[in-house]
Amino acid sequence: MLSKYLVLILLLKYWHQRYRLFSKLNDGILMDEEGWFSVTPELIATHIADRMVTHKDCVILDAFTGVGGNAIQFALKGALVYAIDLDPIKLRCARQNAKVYGVENRITFICGNFYHIAKSFCQSRPDGIPLLIDSIFLSPPWGGPEYLNKPIFELGSCVPDGFDIFEVAVKISQNIAYFLPRNTSSNQLMQIAGKTASKKVEIEHNVLNNKIKALTAYYGNLVSSS
Ligand code: ADP
Repeated sequence: MLSKYLVLILLLKYWHQRYRLFSKLNDGILMDEEGWFSVTPELIATHIADRMVTHKDCVILDAFTGVGGNAIQFALKGALVYAIDLDPIKLRCARQNAKVYGVENRITFICGNFYHIAKSFCQSRPDGIPLLIDSIFLSPPWGGPEYLNKPIFELGSCVPDGFDIFEVAVKISQNIAYFLPRNTSSNQLMQIAGKTASKKVEIEHNVLNNKIKALTAYYGNLVSSS
């Protein structure tokens, strides 16, 4: 549990850096308290979208949407997005934020548990054609800023468990971008690559202002050919 003093310091830090989260922050962006800590900074979200949106109208599943920082960037680059989140308040913020960026019509918001909703994405439609998801973006709860207190962040420390999340996701699409703390165990990221056909992973550090903010592990055809 974070002390009130630490929360205040962190909020001041995020307030100072607020335009890095959403460049249109003053145009009606909505965020709850948690959103300040968990939204992906816009430059990083844009970069991930550049890698994931491989063609116009490709379909991306954002499994832990939060207030929508990533989903908006996918839509802005031309993707159609399914945006899932357990928390209706977060999704309300995400919908409003998508409106601010003019992309709400490209995002389908689904309130619910990723584990439950994933099943319907695995099932075929009545006519036998599988629902086609080109790729999946996973940014699960890291458990707050305490993740940095340990030298190595274990996938099992995510809530829900990061191994389980990957296992569920890979049944829908093997093209996965996994957004995690910068100190996440590389061994574990390589280990889960064994669940994909190519068995490859590319681990990218996401740097902002000369600081590594997070990492993104790419799987399937999101691994760059170089
Ligand atoms: P972080 O630790 O990165 O700050 P959050 O705690 O903000 O992450 O969690 C990311 C988002 O995932 C939140 O918006 C939360 O509501 C959502 N979430 C958590 N569990 C699930 C789940 N099982 N299915 C869908 N969304 C979930």
